This record gives sequence, structure tokens and C-alpha cells, in this order.
Amino acid sequence: MSYCVNCGVELDSSLKSCPLCHTPVIHPGELQKAGFTSPYPEQKGQVETVKRKDLGILITIVLSATAIGCALLNLFVFTGSLWSLLIIGICIILFVLSIPAVIYTKQPIYLSLLLDGIAIGVYLYMITFLTASARWFWELAVPIVALATILAELLTLCIRRLPVSIIATALYLFAEAAILCVGIELFIDRYFGKPLSLSWSAIVLTVCGIIVIALITLLSTRRLREAVRRRLHF
Ligand SMILES: [Zn+2]
Repeated sequence: MSYCVNCGVELDSSLKSCPLCHTPVIHPGELQKAGFTSPYPEQKGQVETVKRKDLGILITIVLSATAIGCALLNLFVFTGSLWSLLIIGICIILFVLSIPAVIYTKQPIYLSLLLDGIAIGVYLYMITFLTASARWFWELAVPIVALATILAELLTLCIRRLPVSIIATALYLFAEAAILCVGIELFIDRYFGKPLSLSWSAIVLTVCGIIVIALITLLSTRRLREAVRRRLHF
């Protein structure tokens, strides 16, 4: 069935032109046979994507230039304090973070997380040069960063090794958040020489505990799990 392109009347397939307005009837298939070319190019014009390696080189150069530039400024111009350590530390963190993304994508995720933790530790250590004492670094920063790194590694291990779902991931996250908060409070207590006890982190622990129990119930009861999945559309 075809229709006139001009007046829209229905046409018989044998007609060469419209009986009403005399517009010629052209079969689309015949256009190509007649050598008719499309006004649009066949190939999509696309800008070449930036290669990861090039981006890696760019990031490395920009970060090193920033770090070296600040170090030189600190050494020769603004010599009042070791302020450049703060910027150099940030550059180190950004570089370490960008390794798995653009420089060496095959780097195992556990190693990446470990290096991230170490980079943050190094940065905090650099700050000790600007503070009166480095005690806070050894007694607060190192334990907290180490705990956070271990928890991040554990979270990755759980997500990779155990059955994955949004509910399960939420379960791991809430459990780890509770452990992290309890850890931070205990480290702070020890730092200030107070007896180890829970106050604010007890609240976090309770809330997370309730959520974790609810999530475990959800996970272990198939009917409940399905009901939640249907209602939340995941
Ligand atoms: Zn017509």
C-alpha cells in the first residue's frame, strides 16, 4: 500500500503518478538503483576518543609540574613554612588514585586500595611537618587510615566473593560504617588518655545494628526480598 507524498491519497501499486494531483510516484527502492545518493554521509562523524595512555601521561605531567613548582616556590620564594608539602601530598594522592583509572588499568583492585590508603597516610605524615607534634599522626591518623583501608578491602572482598545484590551491598556498608565509627571513637579515647568507652559511636552502632538485622531478615526471607525488589524496581 502506498500513498501520494503530496496529497496523501491512497494509490494503487501499478500507478506511475497520482490520479488527483499528478505527482510522480517513486518507489524508495528505485532511488538507489537510479544512483541517487543520500544527502547525509553514510559514516558517522565521530571525534576520536582520548586514549587512556595519553590521559595518563597528561595527568602525570600536570601533577608532577604542580608538585615541583610548589616545592621550588617554597624553597626559594615563600620560605616561611613547609606549605608546599600539603600540595605535594595532594598531588601524590591524585596520582595514586588515577593509576587504576588511566595509567595501569590491570592493577588489582586490592593493591589499588592498599596504595590509596598508603598515599593518604603519606599525605597525613607530610602534615606532621607543619604541626608541633607528630603524636596525632601515629596515634590517630595511622590507626584510622589503616582501619578504613582494611574495611575497604573487606568490602571489596565481600562484593567480589559473596552473592551480590543491592541489599547485600547495603548490609556490608552499614556493618562497616558501624565498625569504623566504633574504631574511631576508641582511637580518640586512647589518644586523649581516657578510658575506652562508647558514647556517640554507640548510637551509630545501634542504628546500623538495627538496619543490618533488618537487611539480614530481608535477605534470608525470599518472599520479603522479592516484595522489596518489586516495589523499589531493582
Ligand atoms: Zn496526489
